[in-house]
Amino acid sequence: MDDSPLSRQLVDAIRMLEAAGIIDYNGHCSIRLGEGRVLINTGSCQRARLGVEDLCIIDLEGRLIEGRANPPLECHLHCGIYRARPDAGAVVHAHPRWSTYLTMVGEPYRPVYAQGAILHPVPVLDTPDSINTREMADRLAGVLGPRPAALMKSHGAVTVGRDIVEAFVLASYLEENASRQYMALQIGTPYCFSEAEIARCRDKLWNPGLFRRTWDHYRAKLPPVPPAAGD
Ligand SMILES: [Zn+2]
Repeated sequence: MDDSPLSRQLVDAIRMLEAAGIIDYNGHCSIRLGEGRVLINTGSCQRARLGVEDLCIIDLEGRLIEGRANPPLECHLHCGIYRARPDAGAVVHAHPRWSTYLTMVGEPYRPVYAQGAILHPVPVLDTPDSINTREMADRLAGVLGPRPAALMKSHGAVTVGRDIVEAFVLASYLEENASRQYMALQIGTPYCFSEAEIARCRDKLWNPGLFRRTWDHYRAKLPPVPPAAGD
């Protein structure tokens, strides 16, 4: 895969999600390239030591166009959202711990801190099944609607952005909010932001400059790429 700025940005996003404990060995992120093409990590790659050679290009039906390995089985998730959402420029799908806990017990995502409030409300797909077919992808896209994020019951989360910076930052806000909500629930009933407070948060915080600052915060913490096993 070309060592283009978009490829490097996608690699950084996945490595940052891995370093932050948001993505696991199965998560995947993508960028829409235009002309029905999608840049995405391969299914078998090591997320923590990802390089541009671990990316591939697929079409909007999940078929491999370019790359040395296949996309993830759940690549349909990305294709379905790009088909349904012309505004979507990037998609993050992870299986993060805290937000998934909420879905396991039917606890709704509640706006408990400012950055997390801008994503509220977050719809939930009512099945843990993988998004590995066109039908499941269309179903998830229907649940997501025009929202920036959705959760999948006992499975994971998806965020959608105009670009990968936005999709990454929203994924980090989503998981941080879920973590705070979970912790607060252990000691009491968390305070939930009012509609007016949420609106003020959105006005102030839904801002490309602030998204970039959050991205830079995580990027500055990226560890060096570790050697491969056996190196
Ligand atoms: Zn998944």
